[in-house]
Amino acid sequence: MNSEEFIDLRSDTVTLPTDEMLEAIRYAKLGDDVFEEDPTVKKLEEMAAEKMGKDAALLVTSGTQANLVSLLSNTKRGDSVILEAESHIYYYEVGGLSFVAGLLPILVRGKNGYMDPVDIETVLRPKDIHYPETTLICIENTHNRAGGTIIRPEQIKSLYDFAKTHGLKLYMDGARIFNAAVALKTDVKNFTKYVDNLMFCLSKGLSCPIGSIIVGNHDFIERARKFRKMLGGGMRQAGIIAAPGIIALEKMIDRLEEDHRNARLLAEALSKIDGIAIDLSTVQTNIVMFDVSGLGISAYRFVELLKNKKILCLPFSDAKVRMVTHRGIERTHIEKTIVAVEELAKLAHKKGAHIEIE
Ligand SMILES: *Cc1c(COP(=O)(O)O)cnc(C)c1O
Repeated sequence: MNSEEFIDLRSDTVTLPTDEMLEAIRYAKLGDDVFEEDPTVKKLEEMAAEKMGKDAALLVTSGTQANLVSLLSNTKRGDSVILEAESHIYYYEVGGLSFVAGLLPILVRGKNGYMDPVDIETVLRPKDIHYPETTLICIENTHNRAGGTIIRPEQIKSLYDFAKTHGLKLYMDGARIFNAAVALKTDVKNFTKYVDNLMFCLSKGLSCPIGSIIVGNHDFIERARKFRKMLGGGMRQAGIIAAPGIIALEKMIDRLEEDHRNARLLAEALSKIDGIAIDLSTVQTNIVMFDVSGLGISAYRFVELLKNKKILCLPFSDAKVRMVTHRGIERTHIEKTIVAVEELAKLAHKKGAHIEIE
């Protein structure tokens, strides 16, 4: 797909590496990382651990691998884990937690992605011969399906206190944790202090071509390294992946604020369009989730019609559409998108709610 022609709001994963990243790949010092001899990987992992205020870090191939390796490293087969009902781990990771890690998910519905400890308490089972042992709570920050919402540091703290009271570990799928930190203008350590371990993605808003990083204490990372190898994720000269990661951590975090500004601009304009429903309070970072059922068309049809106007986005249910801002999206792209949606809405209203638009 030619990104110069299309305005691509499907995901921040479509971001391409910067020229500086490509340069860094070209000149990266390399070694065999399965032997732990790639200096560029080591440097990135040390930087990541330091930034997150934890002992150690591990570069993995993707966010999905990061979550799976972390689940394996935090639990044992047959355990149950507490997950938010719309979490990425439960929704989009091919059921790997059950298929590969042998875990039983227990779902708790959150509010804007946040599971209240009071609600977790109601599903937590006591020790009993009939029950699997519950060992882990997973949170997602920012929460994708809730619309990029932030689980705030004080909320994480209450989940941590709850987890420790019940002898559980707390893990954070922090794929977009830097979006949360930038949005609240606070050090990312305020989000990581009260989780046992976490992962974050380099390949989303931070613009790297590949990679996610798991962070935690030494024991956990040692286990994770072994599980990564088991899953086929032991990489050799992985410095070519780590080199752009170093640039991401040094230079690509602060600019996320621009993505948030663009998302806000988009969301506010969409909220004024008749037939589109959007809860502006959920637009906290770079994700804009809205309901198009008031236009009398499905989200799938909406996405198709916008594609004809060379704008790409994703349906999230029959009624909901997601747009994501990122480094490839500028203010002018947002303005064009708003105009295109306004045109589409006018046409939908003229044709009447029950008639499909051509
Ligand atoms: C994207 C994402 C992942 C998975 O990352 P991949 O690199 O696509 O496998 C995990 N969790 C959340 C919240 C995500 O948004």
